[in-house]
Amino acid sequence: MSNIEKEVAKRRTFAIISHPDAGKTTITERLLLMGKAIEVAGTVKSRKSDRHATSDWMAMEQQRGISITTSVMQFPYRDHMINLLDTPGHEDFSEDTYRTLTAVDSALMMIDGGKGVEPRTIALMNVCRLRDTPIISFVNKLDRDIRDPIELLDEIEEVLSIKAAPITWPIGCYREFKGVYHLANDRIHVYTPGHGHERTEDKIIQGLDSDEARALLGDMYDNFVEELELVQGACHDFDPEEFMAGKLTPVFFGTALGNFGVSHVLDAFVDWAPAPLPRMSQEREVKPTEETFSGFVFKIQANMDPRHRDRIAFMRVCSGKYEQGMKMRHVRIGKDIKIADALTFFSSDRERLEEAWGGDIIGLHNHGTIQIGDTFTAGENVSFTGIPHFAPELFRRVRLKDPLKSKQLRQGLQELAEEGATQVFFPERNNDIILGAVGVLQFDVVASRLKEEYKVECMYEPINVWSARWIESTDKKKLAEFSSKATDNLAVDGGGHLTYLAPTRVNLSLTEERWPEIRFNATREHH
Ligand code: GDP
Repeated sequence: MSNIEKEVAKRRTFAIISHPDAGKTTITERLLLMGKAIEVAGTVKSRKSDRHATSDWMAMEQQRGISITTSVMQFPYRDHMINLLDTPGHEDFSEDTYRTLTAVDSALMMIDGGKGVEPRTIALMNVCRLRDTPIISFVNKLDRDIRDPIELLDEIEEVLSIKAAPITWPIGCYREFKGVYHLANDRIHVYTPGHGHERTEDKIIQGLDSDEARALLGDMYDNFVEELELVQGACHDFDPEEFMAGKLTPVFFGTALGNFGVSHVLDAFVDWAPAPLPRMSQEREVKPTEETFSGFVFKIQANMDPRHRDRIAFMRVCSGKYEQGMKMRHVRIGKDIKIADALTFFSSDRERLEEAWGGDIIGLHNHGTIQIGDTFTAGENVSFTGIPHFAPELFRRVRLKDPLKSKQLRQGLQELAEEGATQVFFPERNNDIILGAVGVLQFDVVASRLKEEYKVECMYEPINVWSARWIESTDKKKLAEFSSKATDNLAVDGGGHLTYLAPTRVNLSLTEERWPEIRFNATREHH
């Protein structure tokens, strides 16, 4: 194996998908603990609240108990390098989440054992299914009363249309929670409460048929053996190929808070989840083991460090190796630039980076030239695909409180739109500025960031727009004709693309019928 093949094979890049409160923050901390990235669980939250206190919109995030920002964490585990990408939990940020999921190779699905499959989990699974992302599942909160585990698996299969293969099976729950039984290895991992904040080795009992196992289970023993027969008869076996194809998910049980079962999940990522996969570009497929560097930007985030007003472009490395000081071609603008100070996210902190390989995430300082979806290479002109904008469903007209600040407003909105915080539209018939969002909370975030970062105060007014469609046509004459006839509903978006703002659903379908040569796209890729 060449060095690059070794480095790529070592990497696992995944995100956690879950409904708010299922335990994503808690398991993230435990994973970092496992990777020795932190010494005591609990530190992630306190670090997070330090950061929050200093910025308005982050304070807002904290008040509402939601996580808006995406962060990236890298840590070593069992001779492997884990890249864990956090996704915003709130549904208003689904676009961001979608783009983050384009940068991973697998995902961890967290399910609250007391609640089962919840709406946000369903939505995120639908996103994962678009790329057949392999999913590993964790049923959490076994230290509490949970629903019948067989019922939970049925629910996963039915509601999420994916086969569920239990790898471990829980022995009791709540006060009776004794641990989990590893079905294939005939091995009990014994749960001992009170070790949630430490790294501990599981106590193992080999063989369900052993005296030790009988002693541990006591009165529960016969029922448990009976239940297992049912489970083994009715459930799917783990099948690596079906897992890789996103058609089957291995399921683990445990408690994130009690730090039990978390290592089983992490082991499963190392043993089963794919190493960095190839990515499609417009020109060709790019393999992570290719020697020349390439990567794409899936997210831009402002204010990670409130002391500097820096914006960080998050890039997934797709091939080759990043080294400090290397030159990269910014393909969209056709320029070669020297990257002196990319960031890594090793050990839950941002540090200066020496090198990065396929599957790793690096952060580039963005001074306004980088947009979501941009490709960087060692010189080749390839453009990665599959990082879309979605047509917004909510619209507001922006009104300035101080009319003299219109320049700052435009600049602020342009930058926030590049980041993907909102979408901005400039109508052709007047000087209005229209914002589009997927979730209503985005408008509040934009208003508070405009105030904080650009010193611009604005208000929103309702506007009669139902949806937006990006306009395309190979027939230049028809396009010109359409542009002159439909001026009243046309706008240019933040990226300079012609957009049709439809006042109603009926209007849109009538217009589509009337102009068959024109394409009305509900998503737009970033070039
Ligand atoms: P997130 O919204 O998905 O990030 O969820 P959090 O990690 O913040 O957890 C939500 C709540 O559930 C918090 O109060 C956690 O302490 C609690 N929690 C998380 N995991 C467990 C668990 O395994 N057992 C119990 N009893 N509570 C848990």
